[in-house]
This record gives sequence, structure tokens and C-alpha cells, in this order.
Amino acid sequence: MINKINTLKVNTKQNKNISSGNYYQLCRYKFNLIERFADWSCIYYTKNIIKNSIIDMIFKTNIISEKEISNVQNAAKENIKNNQKLKSNNLKLIYVNQQNFKNLEPELQNNNVVKLIREGKNAAFFSKYNKILMPEKKLQLSIFHEIGHALNYNYSKLWQNLCKFSNYSSIFMYLIFVEKIFNTSKTQKQSSSKKDALITSIPVIPSIIEEGLASIKGSFEAKKLVNRDLYRKILKNNGLSFSVYLLKYGFTFITLKMFFDLKNLIQKN
Ligand SMILES: [Zn+2]
Repeated sequence: MINKINTLKVNTKQNKNISSGNYYQLCRYKFNLIERFADWSCIYYTKNIIKNSIIDMIFKTNIISEKEISNVQNAAKENIKNNQKLKSNNLKLIYVNQQNFKNLEPELQNNNVVKLIREGKNAAFFSKYNKILMPEKKLQLSIFHEIGHALNYNYSKLWQNLCKFSNYSSIFMYLIFVEKIFNTSKTQKQSSSKKDALITSIPVIPSIIEEGLASIKGSFEAKKLVNRDLYRKILKNNGLSFSVYLLKYGFTFITLKMFFDLKNLIQKN
């Protein structure tokens, strides 16, 4: 009888310990989830603040005199004219304004990037049409980055194919992400979130390399044609533009890693 009472007492104590342990675990789990979402919002705002300040710096670097604008435009035209390959492949450089916008292919007229170019807020190379579209007055230093894209595209089959692939790189990335996030076969042995984030982000890496190469090649061409001061500004512009891509990749990697961390956290509990 005495033994029975003692056993009963011990069991009640154990149960209490277990339930308070479970409660503690649940609280910790909830806290971890809240912490993850707080991290996400911090990351999101930090990314936007850094990105906007770099874009601001790019616009400020591009505030150049009328004379410098005409120098950089002439240098770009000369560079394309003197390049046999670009010339024979009929690369076109168009400074988009309200009038000539209407003469562009309908697909380009409906493209949001082209609309931004017309407003002086972007510059781009369109591989499908082998055309560089530039704003009339703003972002003029970017021309020697876009020429870099045109050189990559017109000189190498690898980058030509990569241009086509890069249109789908985000889709590939999301497909890998969905496959990884819903694959629960590794319940027992959790996979490394860092490794998963790296594998998921692989499809976007080639286009970042291509961006870097375009900046390097464009700057190299500019060096031959413009004065030192203008060349420095082009270098700064191309460096800042590339850092936006690096930043975008860095934050994509962090976000993916956090999703995989969250998946591991949910699986663990
Ligand atoms: Zn680019």
C-alpha cells in the first residue's frame, strides 16, 4: 500500500514534468517562429534600404555635363561602328524618346523596362532584337555596360544560349525551391539549409557572372575612347550596377536559407 502511494506520487510528478516540458518546448517553438518572421522583415527592409541607396548613388554618378553626355554618346557610337562583329550583326543603339518610341517593335513598346528607359530610369540590351535602348539624357554612363552585354551576346554562342536560359532562371530556381521545401523524405536526417540554398540559387549564378563580364568588357572598351575623368565615372557606374546584382543574389541566398531553416525547425518539432 505504501509502495503504491509512492509510485502514484512519483508518476504524477513525472507527468507534471513532461507536460511543463512540452509547454516550454511549444513556447520556444512559437518564439523561434516569431523570431524567423522578425528576421525576414529585417532582411527585407535592410535589402530595400541598401538597394535604394546604391540606385541613388548610380543616378548621382550619372549627373554629368552636357559636354560629357555628348562625349560618352559619341564614344559609344564610334565603338559600335569600329567593331566589325557588332556592325555585321547589325547591333542598333537607340536613344529612346517620345517620338522614336512609337517606331519600336510592338513587343518592346509594351515592355515595362522600355517604358522605364523612355522615362530615363533604366537602360538595357535586348538580345532578341540585338538592340541597346538608352534614355536620351539620363544614365548615360551605363552605355558601356550595355555594350558589354552586346559583346557577350554577339561574340559567344555560350552567352547567346545563356541569354535564352536566363529568361527562365527564376522559374528553374522556384522549381528547385518547391521540390526541396516539400520534399519531406529527409525527416530523420535534416539537410543543411546552407547547401540547399546554394543548390536552389544555382540557376541565377550564370546571369550574375554575365552581368559582371558585361561591366568589365564595357569598361575596357570605354578606356580606349574617353578621357580619364569620364572613364573613372564609367567604372564607378559599372561597379555600382554590379553591386546591385550581388546584393540581390546575397539576399536571395539568405531568404532561401531562412526558408530551409524554417522547414528544419518545423520538422524537428
Ligand atoms: Zn546588365
